[in-house]
Amino acid sequence: MGVENPLGDNIITTSLDALVNWSRKSSIWPMTFGLACCAIEMMATGASHNDLDRFGIIFRASPRQSDCIIIAGTVTKKMLPVIKTVYEQMPEPKWVIAMGACACSGGVFDTYSVVQGIDEALPVDVYIPGCPPRPEALLYGIMKLQDKIMKDKNSFGNSIGLGTRIESAAA
Ligand code: SF4
Repeated sequence: MGVENPLGDNIITTSLDALVNWSRKSSIWPMTFGLACCAIEMMATGASHNDLDRFGIIFRASPRQSDCIIIAGTVTKKMLPVIKTVYEQMPEPKWVIAMGACACSGGVFDTYSVVQGIDEALPVDVYIPGCPPRPEALLYGIMKLQDKIMKDKNSFGNSIGLGTRIESAAA
């Protein structure tokens, strides 16, 4: 049983870049990592009502199995070295989502102990505003990341060691 010969006598042509980008955007595996209240919304987005699994998104408990990190919460200067270590342990290609006002800009915490935006330390691909952003906003941000991944150039060449992958600008 199952789908047999779904294309009939037809064929599909595409570029290898499009195929690699499509497979990457359809299997984003974020680190299981939360910092503050925004992480509750991230967990709600992964739960049954919003169901991130339908995007092929499965949270992983190891940075070595993750290709995305969602910075969900207030980033303190004490925590920043840990975040950097986790990010550096993730294999390439990898993406960063700054979720919420704190991760984007420090939020209301303009204090000595809070990093005023995670982009001071990590290359952010998508910024999601709000305090906290609702699950719908995180879903939209993830879809923006998927759009960005689809615009990558030389994904296939880079994956076999030829040339560098060219990313589009942050969204
Ligand atoms: S943006 Fe708001 S909800 Fe999110 S971590 Fe900061 S204070 Fe909490």
